[in-house]
This record gives sequence, structure tokens and C-alpha cells, in this order.
Amino acid sequence: MPELPEVETTRRGIAPHLIGRRITSVVLRRPDLRWPIPPEVGALLPGQRIEEVERRAKYLLLHTQVGSALLHLGMTGVLRVLPPDAPVGKHDHVDIALEATTVGARILRFTDARRFGCLLWQPPGTTHELLENLGPEPLTDAFDGDLLWHLSRGRTAAVKLFLMDNAVVVGVGNIYASEALFAAGIDPRRAAGSVSRARYARLAAEVKRILAWAIERGGTTLRDFINPDGMPGYFVRELQVYGREGEPCRTCGTAIRQVVLGQRSTFWCPRCQK
Ligand SMILES: [Zn+2]
Repeated sequence: MPELPEVETTRRGIAPHLIGRRITSVVLRRPDLRWPIPPEVGALLPGQRIEEVERRAKYLLLHTQVGSALLHLGMTGVLRVLPPDAPVGKHDHVDIALEATTVGARILRFTDARRFGCLLWQPPGTTHELLENLGPEPLTDAFDGDLLWHLSRGRTAAVKLFLMDNAVVVGVGNIYASEALFAAGIDPRRAAGSVSRARYARLAAEVKRILAWAIERGGTTLRDFINPDGMPGYFVRELQVYGREGEPCRTCGTAIRQVVLGQRSTFWCPRCQK
């Protein structure tokens, strides 16, 4: 599943081809993805200029004057900028055609084999319900250790589940939560309310470091092979705990353990993480 770094890498890849360009037509090869595609997408987008390409959590927004297309890649979604005559495959569900420039005409194509992705509509001046009640972006100043500390007081849920709660902070998926907790030396099973302010400061810093690193690497390696968990190959080689049950901790040699928290596999080192 594409995680925040892959979605941000996608945004950075497509934005220069889209911003400032006018949409000439929209081709919807099916009426729905995960949810029905609202009629505004086909009716209002043609003729509009794309003003900005924004990422919020794992959503991408194509902003125009009359409203915004809201996209989520789901499990298997891919967005590519292609020449208009690119052959259409079975899972190429949406094409957004762009006016020609000196490099020729282009289409933005949304491909999604499993169709857990979505294409929705956000009228101008409104916030789509899927974007309401989201916590801050992890790579902004609004996210820090103090925020985690304040929000966690009195919470008995495991700190890993707290960190993965989109109302606390968006985009910290299972892999990144496991790795950040290892880097911060915090046992993922510990009650969120029992983690000190100083340790949350360390955790927030590690979340930022790991996500920023993944985004930076993603920029050049997105076309590398993607393993069945959806992780780019470069990332698998760097993992400290995720997917390493029974293998020696890279820091202390103790066998990495696995437990299921909130239906998700969690990995930690019993010696390095307290
Ligand atoms: Zn260890």
C-alpha cells in the first residue's frame, strides 16, 4: 500500500506537469472506484486550469477555480503522466487530458488494479469529509513531541496505535511507526499516557527523520521493484525491526520480537525498547 512517502513522491513527480495547465477532457472508463465518481469530475473539470497539486495525509488534491479533484491511491493505485496515445490497459480507469505545451499533449492516468482508490470532488471553500478531523502533517512544525505528550495524557492505548491514529498525526503507517519507536527506544506496547515528554520529543524527531529520508530516497527509486508489502526495495534493506522477527537486533543482537497490536504486526527489540 502506498504510504505517505510514496504519495508525496507521486505528488512531486506529477505536479510540474500539471500546475498551470488546462484540462481539455476527462475520460472515466468506469463509474466508480472504491466509491462512485461524482458527476462534477467529468462535468466541471474540462476547461479548468490546475492551480495547485496538494497532498493532505495520503490524499492528493488537484485544485481548480471551480473545485478540487480528490484522489487516494488505495492499495494499488498509480498516477502517471503519459502521452495521450499511451495504450490503455485493463486497470487504467481514469485519464485527465491536459492541453499541449512545447513538450506536446499529456494525460494524467489513474491506474488501480484492486480499486480501493478513489476519485472524489471537493467544492471550492469546503473541506471534504474525508479530510475533516485529521491531525497535523508529520513534517510540519505543528507536529512535535509536545503535541504527542498533551494528546496522550490519560490514554491507555498502546503508544504505537496512538502514533498511527490519524486524529493525532496523519500518515504514520505501520512500518514507519515500528521503525520510529525503535529509533526512539520506546516499547510499542507501552501505554501512550505513560511516555514522558522528553521521550515524545525524541519520537517526533525520529518520525520526521524517517519519513523525510523515505521521501528523499523515493524521489529517485520509485521505479525500483516494490515488494508484496508495497515497500520499495531500498527501504526493506534499511529496516531495523519491521519484518525481522527472530533476527538479531542490529544494535544489540537480541532477537527481534513480534506481537499483533490493533490487528497489525508490530516488531520491537526487547532490550533496546523500554
Ligand atoms: Zn536491540
